[in-house]
Amino acid sequence: MSRPLIADIDLGALRHNYRLACDQAPHSRAIAVLKAGAYGHGAVECANALADVAPAFAVASIEEAVALRDAGIEQPIMLLEGFFDAEELPLIDAHRLWIAVHSDWQLDALLAFQPRTPIPTWLKLDSGMHRLGFAPEAFVSRWQRLKAAPDQATDLHLMTHFATADALDPGYFRRQMACVEALRERLEAPVCLANSPATLAWPQTHGEWTRPGVMLYGSDPLEGANDASRALKPVMTLRSEVIAVRELETGEAVGYGGRWRAPRPSRIGVVACGYGDGYDRHAGDGTPVLVEGRRVPLAGKVSMDMLTVDLTEVPEAHIGSQVVLWGEGLSIDEVARHCDTISYTLMTGVLPRVPRRYR
Ligand code: PLP
Repeated sequence: MSRPLIADIDLGALRHNYRLACDQAPHSRAIAVLKAGAYGHGAVECANALADVAPAFAVASIEEAVALRDAGIEQPIMLLEGFFDAEELPLIDAHRLWIAVHSDWQLDALLAFQPRTPIPTWLKLDSGMHRLGFAPEAFVSRWQRLKAAPDQATDLHLMTHFATADALDPGYFRRQMACVEALRERLEAPVCLANSPATLAWPQTHGEWTRPGVMLYGSDPLEGANDASRALKPVMTLRSEVIAVRELETGEAVGYGGRWRAPRPSRIGVVACGYGDGYDRHAGDGTPVLVEGRRVPLAGKVSMDMLTVDLTEVPEAHIGSQVVLWGEGLSIDEVARHCDTISYTLMTGVLPRVPRRYR
């Protein structure tokens, strides 16, 4: 038998979550965000699972897009940051990709290029994220430059990204949205605005297109859950087994640095999963793990290939007991909170040595 660690990927749950994104925004078309290997779930497998329902996919680089094309994916694929070098444009044209344009050098390169067919373009507005995109005062002239060059971009859209759509305090989101609304009206622009939290919580963002990512994988991105976010289903379940059991006296320490000390005679389970698999080393004592379907606390620092849990309250646990690190029965969002991080880093952090099993 091999090392008992596996990431089970439930493609039915992925489809359920995608449908939920569509139901939330019934007048929009949802571009499924598959960047970073579909947030660690496998981009090709996820694209195939959504191929008959999703009108388009989005990734972060031409390499990610070409890998999907090579696997036979035919949908339009959006490059969320456009291109990083003008030399990518012939490939973008050949592979029928969509591009975001966020900087003047990209605009100049696009306008100097003669595509075989006009490249659908998503001009990025910096409405307040202050990461990529044109400031509102600069946006209109860039829009007009593109509009005047139909060979390059007949299919032109306004795109923006929200910094706080997940937050309970709506103040900053409303400011970003007001900035978008003003330009959208003035330019009569079709828009693509909503990430997962906006898809779930802010109907005014839905527009012609949405761009849900993390919700497709079953994580609830909202600071305050709502009915829709509660209906999401986990796609990845990270499973392992107890590979050893230790009996300890009161006061004995576990693992590197002896961080956890037995407060009473204790039973420690060793689980085959560590930071060398992508389990976060910042997980504190008390981070929940499921053993035999029961919640037990992490006890001691995470090692490269193993972690340790306190099994004292689960006497039936034994070598070979089934373990869930996150997924079915244990929300990845809850585990992320114990690691002082977000679900995105846990999902994308599952390393290649962990086999993915699809169902
Ligand atoms: N759009 C852009 C430009 C992004 O960078 C991302 C993710 O980071 C998304 C959409 C999807 O966001 P989320 O995963 O929060 O739905």
